[in-house]
Amino acid sequence: LAAGCSMADMATLSRVRRAWRELSSVLNPDETVTPVTYINSSADLKAFCGEHGGIVCTSSNAPKILAWSFSQREKVLFFPDQHLGRWSGHKMGIPLSDMVMWDWDQPMGGLTPEQINKAKIILWKGFCSVHMMFQPQHIDKFRAEYPEGKVISHPECCFEVCEKSDYVGSTEYIIKIIAESPPGTRWLVGTELNLVNRLAEEFKAPDETGQSKIIQFMAPTVCMCSTMARIDPPHLAWCLENLVAGHVVNRITVPPQEAELAKVALERMLDAS
Ligand code: SF4
Repeated sequence: LAAGCSMADMATLSRVRRAWRELSSVLNPDETVTPVTYINSSADLKAFCGEHGGIVCTSSNAPKILAWSFSQREKVLFFPDQHLGRWSGHKMGIPLSDMVMWDWDQPMGGLTPEQINKAKIILWKGFCSVHMMFQPQHIDKFRAEYPEGKVISHPECCFEVCEKSDYVGSTEYIIKIIAESPPGTRWLVGTELNLVNRLAEEFKAPDETGQSKIIQFMAPTVCMCSTMARIDPPHLAWCLENLVAGHVVNRITVPPQEAELAKVALERMLDAS
């Protein structure tokens, strides 16, 4: 039950409710702001989005979901990951100057009424500490050593890393692009280490042309996701064995009203994507 996502924990319902209340002193958020939550978020935040005309997104569909959100209201409050929101907004052609960051530790998110009124996207100050390990200089070093190499990153990486990458996309996208690349391609990959190791293992054997793909992790230091790593084979086996024996262990219960509202936000996503 201790497994989770430290980035998701940066946007709690009480912090988001307070932001909504504070925004109300400048504009009417229920008329002008679509709340958008990344799928890595708690059920109560999805319910908040369901209740306030908002929606859920994934790293694959974020630009499409932003387009839907702007068709509903003129602004977006995007949480918990600022980087996914910023990159997706950038891909839609929204200038960085029209995106502001909401710091939950500051009154009014640290923003002036003018900044809030001008903004198209209000980005929650959350981030994934694993993806923040990747820096533009790692890409510069790789390119200097391997000018023919390719760089691919997840949109949870910072804007400068995404900008310097040849490809940016979800986990599914990263797997697909690397799988479809020509034999002999060398890759620098900016995402969670377990996935990079799995890809490196999968493509290390030479194919019929005698060439293999070389896949390397973007950061020189390793930063494992400690919260996600709590989902491990022994615990999974323990849960499954208990289920087979007819016992449900670590049952997660969502209050019915919250589940209903969260479903509204999730269904909006499924309809829009
Ligand atoms: S790597 Fe860990 S902290 Fe980062 S988004 Fe994934 S689960 Fe959350």
